[in-house]
This record gives sequence, C-alpha cells and structure tokens, in this order.
Amino acid sequence: MTSFGTTMMLVDDGTTQILIDAFITPASLLDAALGRPVSTDPDAVDTALDKVGADRVRAIFISHSHHDHALDVAYIANRTEATVYGSPSTLNIARGGNVPEDRLALLDPEKSVTVGSFTVRTIASKHSPNPMGGEGATIDKPLLQPAPISAYKEGGTYDFLVAAPETSMLFKGSANWIPGALAGVHADALFLGIGGLGRAAQSFSKDFLDATIGTVQPAIVIPTHWNDFFCPVHEGLPLQRKLVDNTPAAFDTVLARTKADGVDIGLLEAFASITIH
Ligand SMILES: [Zn+2]
Repeated sequence: MTSFGTTMMLVDDGTTQILIDAFITPASLLDAALGRPVSTDPDAVDTALDKVGADRVRAIFISHSHHDHALDVAYIANRTEATVYGSPSTLNIARGGNVPEDRLALLDPEKSVTVGSFTVRTIASKHSPNPMGGEGATIDKPLLQPAPISAYKEGGTYDFLVAAPETSMLFKGSANWIPGALAGVHADALFLGIGGLGRAAQSFSKDFLDATIGTVQPAIVIPTHWNDFFCPVHEGLPLQRKLVDNTPAAFDTVLARTKADGVDIGLLEAFASITIH
C-alpha cells in the first residue's frame, strides 16, 4: 500500500495494482474560493505515478466524485488503460476526459469485482456531514476540464473492501456511514477517512468509530484525509488547515479509540508505503 495523500492509495501485490481514488493535481484554496476552472496537471500526475512505479494499474475505484477524490481519474485511466469503477457521476468525469466506454464500470454493491488476485466489494456509504451541504448532488453529463471544483458533485459515497488471498483492507474515504452497512465485514487494515471528524460532535465521532473500528475489528487503522489537499502532494504533507478542520482533535479521537481497543495505528506520508500481511 502506498499513499498519495488525501485518500488516494495504490494497492500492489507485486503483480496487479489497484488505485483507490485519483487526486494528485493541487487546486489551490484560491481556485476553490474564486471558482476558477482547474484541469489535471499531467506533469504532477506523471511525476507522482512514476515515483511509486504505478505502471501495472488495472482498476481505479473512486469513493465519490468530489474533486479531492476524482479530479485526475480520466487522465490516470487513459495513461494506465485501467478500468474506472465509479458512480454515474464519477463515470461522467471519466467520459469528459475521453475514457472509452468499455473501460467504465458502474459500482454495484451487489457484486464483487475480481482484479488479478484481488476481490473488491463495494459497500454503500455516506459522505461526511458538510456545513456547505451538497450531498446527493450528481454530475449528469460528461464533465469537461477545465471546470471549477464546485462542478465535482458528490454523486454517492462508497467504501471498498479489497480482499487479497491472505489479507483484507477496507477503504473508507469519507467520515460517515450507513447504519449496519459494515455488519459482518472484517478487514485486517482499515484506511479510515477522518476529514471533518475534528469538528464533529463527540457523539458523532463515537458512533462513527463504533460503526467502523468497532465493527470491522482491524489489526491496524491508518487514518487518511488528514492533510491540506489544497497543497501539492509531496513528502511532509501539511495538516488540513484549521479553517477547514481540526485535524489534531480528530487524531486524538482516533488514537484514544485504537488504544482502548488494542488496535495498532499508523500514519502514511505521501509516497510512503506499508505492507499489510
Ligand atoms: Zn467529499
């Protein structure tokens, strides 16, 4: 497992690679605030993918279609010739970047997908509560770049359970859940999106950690979505800025829970890897 910051992760068993989410190009806070149109930066994406040797990517799974999860999906799909698995909104982002239809696959929580020796199950989830709202909004036609980041509507939020022959990993890109959705799901490693958790009510945080760590019973939790995604991806990622989230508080909450449950916790810098056995 190699991190690209935010929630983007490369899963690699030595033969097959899968990407979870696709976001490398930085869009600045000013771009966001002014609604300036942004495009994938091919140099930034190529540099990042080359750096980690992402040259065997067969599938890209997108947890929802906000820009900080899906901005670079079309460019990466075209470069790697991987199949894009996403919501209808995500597939419209890929279409806008001319990814061929035969490499677009709609996420289906009823069906597992086999990619090399991996089995990927999609689990319906929910976006973290956003003070600006906008959950449930969709992208209804191919999204051409450049486009303002506000054009990247949520389009439905999903978790991914990636099972390998000897181990399993759950990717939760957004800090929310559908009650009962993870019942019966076990994962050895839980990649837990904590964006927004630092500003959530204590009762929400407790219920969220019950529904995730408490249910999935992982051996290790790796928090994701803690960095300032308006900054370029590089080693030494800055924490999300205070204006957006209280990340130290979110870390404290997750740390207390993992300690109480006797679960390991780890943090991945950008381009850092961890082996899950
Ligand atoms: Zn989002």
